[in-house]
Amino acid sequence: MTRAIELHDVSKSYTRGTRVVDGLSLDIAPGEFLVLLGPSGCGKSTVLRMIAGLEDIDEGELLLDGEYANHWQPSERGMAMVFQNFALYPNMTGRDNIGFPLRIEDPGADPAPRVGATARMLGIEDLLDRFPSQLSGGERQRVAMGRAIARHPSAFLMDEPLSNLDAKLRNHLRAEISRLTRELGVTTVYVTHDQAEAMSLGDRVAVLRGGVLQQVGTPRQVYALPRNVFTAAFIGTPRINLLRGLVRAPLDGAMTISLGKQALRLPEPLCLDHQLLRVQQGREVIVGLRSEAVRIARHSSARAGEAAITGLVEHVEFQGHEILVHFDTGSRPAVVPDLEAPRPAARPARRRRREGPTVLDRLRERAGSRRAGPVVVLEHPGDTGPEPAPPEGRLPGDLVVRTTPDLRLHHGMQVPLLVDLAHLFVFDQQGDRICPSPDRLPDLDE
Ligand code: ADP
Repeated sequence: MTRAIELHDVSKSYTRGTRVVDGLSLDIAPGEFLVLLGPSGCGKSTVLRMIAGLEDIDEGELLLDGEYANHWQPSERGMAMVFQNFALYPNMTGRDNIGFPLRIEDPGADPAPRVGATARMLGIEDLLDRFPSQLSGGERQRVAMGRAIARHPSAFLMDEPLSNLDAKLRNHLRAEISRLTRELGVTTVYVTHDQAEAMSLGDRVAVLRGGVLQQVGTPRQVYALPRNVFTAAFIGTPRINLLRGLVRAPLDGAMTISLGKQALRLPEPLCLDHQLLRVQQGREVIVGLRSEAVRIARHSSARAGEAAITGLVEHVEFQGHEILVHFDTGSRPAVVPDLEAPRPAARPARRRRREGPTVLDRLRERAGSRRAGPVVVLEHPGDTGPEPAPPEGRLPGDLVVRTTPDLRLHHGMQVPLLVDLAHLFVFDQQGDRICPSPDRLPDLDE
């Protein structure tokens, strides 16, 4: 059996006045692999624990297979959890660790056949007689997975199950989890702060920020059409370039987005998405360019739809198969506070809840992401003061471009760049995407 899990407008506070999960709605289909993704402290584990029945739901509804389940005991839900710290009994062998929940569920039944079948499925038959202290981290996590699988649960709830393992093992077990859950066809909710893990595992990814759902979609959708700056910046490596721009749409000339010392000239005739930017005339916006949207090439080789700018090489990151070049283009980067700062500050709950949402609340909810505070920080629009130092941990420059390792670039070189405007993102000052148009449905073949 595999479950449909629905959350309707679910909220949770641990301390009065501070919501760690805020109005979350999610429908998870039977057999689906859904990843909850977000920075540390954004409420992912709390959501998982509410689904498991380990935390009470303050407001909203949890439905399991369509039935109201807020007050079901964890044991009635038939779900299995896998944690990052393995949580094995130290004084039991692998065999007993896997068999233990089966014995609790049905004391009369012999757990051996199910333990054996599970061990074969995971390829851990040789580990069954060892104690946890005699197992490596990866082996322990396999036994923990075995304990979850052997119960034939209606759903797997996995809370950062791989984060205690080294990178190689993590990749290996990630593939194994993907294979196993698909083979078993059991609904899986998987929590991680690692966007690469989320993208490689999930049928869909739900991006959380400060307890508020930002977007839910297939990995392709959230990458190609992020709803706001936060999702755009959280997903993808290297991080999307976010530059502060100013839209100039004169009646008698080409439309441009000024990036400080340079400008992107939008190709004529304007595509529909660029035409819609006209209403932003004179307003500050945030330009999003993924590193693959910019190439290093002579301006004379520009193709239709490419805009020419130049960049001063600030830093070259050699990655082996490619290099990441950090340029200074004379623009000012936009700051995404949750990604620059260690963690988002706790937010006070909405006041006047009992009186129902105010008009302002409704507008904010429609905007999708405001309840958790500003997604992006801009100082005074049009501010032309001195360039601030990059936030701690960020390399200098305002534009990162990917290129092949054969290109010889060094600090201080002035380099021609071509921007593919078909891959231009524009966000408004609140961080919501305005180009491509927010109404654009993902026409991705999925
Ligand atoms: P994540 O899994 O995204 O890292 P959590 O759901 O664990 O986030 O926590 C969300 C917020 O709730 C954090 O600010 C955390 O400190 C707080 N929190 C989590 N559990 C408790 C608890 N039992 N009591 C009080 N605060 C908690």
